[in-house]
Amino acid sequence: MSKQSNNPLTKYYHDKFPKQKQPAPGLQFEMKPVPDCGEKSYQGHQRLEGLKMLVTGGDSGIGRAAAIAYAKEGADVAINYLPHEQKDAEDVAKVIESVGRKAVLIPGDLSDEAFCKKLVDQAHEKLGGLDNVTFVAGKQTAVEDIMKLTTEQIKKTFEINVFSLFWVTKAALGYLKAGSTIITTSSIQAYQPSANLLDYACTKTAIIAFTRGLAKQVAKKGIRVNSVAPGPIWTPLQICGGQPSEVIPEFGKQAPLMRAGQPVELASLYVFLASEESSYITADTFGVTGGMHIN
Ligand code: NAD
Ligand code: MG
Repeated sequence: MSKQSNNPLTKYYHDKFPKQKQPAPGLQFEMKPVPDCGEKSYQGHQRLEGLKMLVTGGDSGIGRAAAIAYAKEGADVAINYLPHEQKDAEDVAKVIESVGRKAVLIPGDLSDEAFCKKLVDQAHEKLGGLDNVTFVAGKQTAVEDIMKLTTEQIKKTFEINVFSLFWVTKAALGYLKAGSTIITTSSIQAYQPSANLLDYACTKTAIIAFTRGLAKQVAKKGIRVNSVAPGPIWTPLQICGGQPSEVIPEFGKQAPLMRAGQPVELASLYVFLASEESSYITADTFGVTGGMHIN
């Protein structure tokens, strides 16, 4: 493999994206170009040796990049996703297993409280422990006008993006111990909401409050909680209704670095927040925005 350029402007795909649209949830293997989730490009350094991780949304995009990086850093990983995404999930499992780590696949719907508890219990049982929960799953559906935003969509977006954090965390706190970590995924939308992402942006602000409040609640147990706030990242979320399809070719061009980010460019931040190297960091949020900054 030839060494990639260090220039952040050209290190990853920086052309216009081809127009494309899929029904939600989008499938990564059908995207053009396929996002880079570190399958080849991420290099591990055994920073999470022996840990057991649960990643929601681990089949594709940012969650897939976190799951692959965790495995390359020496962790066993359970991933959650929707049944429709089985092929993407199996592709991730192959990468995890190829570096000698255990992959556990647990499909199911996070908007179902009973499933959230089952997910954590199964992850704990099949991994033989639990040291980290990484929340990456999310729903984003652009709607131009609040008058067209249905109650059904508002409720679903909150159930998946916010309520599931409460349900999964309640189950996980039965297993997590001193040294364990929780990582949430917020968004630049929490700070600079787009006009067409009203419900989604509100959930992402709620995730910041959840992260800060929970971090203070569990600090005395030695558990740390932090959030990652991505800017425009090339993932299935964007091409299955997250953005109007006419803006896809220019997606990410508005960032000072003039391109969308690739999921692998977030991977080492998730690893850092899950590792002991971030031992004095909790209740905080870190942007990966190509220069659009989070506050
Ligand atoms: P993605 O489509 O790859 O990931 C989203 C995942 O959410 C899907 O793979 C799916 O498995 C999961 N999901 C959706 N509904 C679910 C449900 N009901 N039950 C279980 N799982 C469900 O896209 P992504 O961009 O990698 O998204 C990951 C996270 O990053 C999301 O929380 C998103 O809000 C956040 N984010 C993305 C961007 C971006 O530009 N891509 C920017 C800011 C924040
Ligand atoms: Mg997916």
